[in-house]
Amino acid sequence: MTSISLKSVTKIYGGRGGDSTLALDGISLELGDSEFVSILGPSGCGKSTLLRIIDGLIGFDEGEVLFNGQPVTRPKQDRGFIFQAFNLFPWRTVRGNIEFGLDVKGMPRDQRREISDRLISLVGLSGFDKKYPHELSGGMQQRVGIARALAIEPEVLLMDEPFGALDAQTREDMQDELLRIWSAEKKTVLFVTHSIEEAIYLSDRIIMMTPRPGRILADLKVPFERPRTEEHRTQADFSAFRHEIYGRLKAAHQLDGGAGRS
Ligand code: ADP
Repeated sequence: MTSISLKSVTKIYGGRGGDSTLALDGISLELGDSEFVSILGPSGCGKSTLLRIIDGLIGFDEGEVLFNGQPVTRPKQDRGFIFQAFNLFPWRTVRGNIEFGLDVKGMPRDQRREISDRLISLVGLSGFDKKYPHELSGGMQQRVGIARALAIEPEVLLMDEPFGALDAQTREDMQDELLRIWSAEKKTVLFVTHSIEEAIYLSDRIIMMTPRPGRILADLKVPFERPRTEEHRTQADFSAFRHEIYGRLKAAHQLDGGAGRS
């Protein structure tokens, strides 16, 4: 059973004093097994910082971060990170990118093949295994990013605005793809976004954050049944929920004096 627990986590960039930024201020959060949780908020509220701390890519100043009860000190293979900018290796093919983490582990070729075959099919890239990243559309590149993260069999996918660089239609298609993959793989997902609609469509829970300093404004359960479909996006209760979240973010923004505008 996967669990992530943060207790009163504080992160200051630039050290204490003059030019420092209090990026996260006393963040406490619990994530359970197979949950899909989004972190939602405007630019600068500390979403990426929070995700990177949970991955172990960066440290923090105060508090505690536990993954399955153990303190997080560095990135490990039980957490897969997916970037907005895809971050694929341009000199490796689709298959080479997906097999990267397995290569590093020294896994024999046949075993790597078996895993990459399954993932290429899972993310809908059959027939593209020999292509290079520059030959693929943005949506396809991000499918490779997801497959590469899944190859190392992480318990958790940490996704940092993974669809932020895609056009609107591709973005919606990728949201459906991600939900399909998530229900097939049963991973815990922590998904950073500043799109209210994306957070609602994908998540079980939404952690709303506000900037300066980065704090949790609310932790909301998304009240819509799964599977989610295109129809959900146009339903009145979906729109009402979107407006409620928008209103809460806007009210927090006004209290902030508008400094958190993104
Ligand atoms: P978000 O992902 O919500 O846009 P970030 O986590 O990137 O927010 O940033 C939170 C705050 O920390 C912002 O004020 C940002 O300018 C600051 N910040 C982020 N990374 C650094 C860094 N490496 N050095 C100094 N300040 C940083």
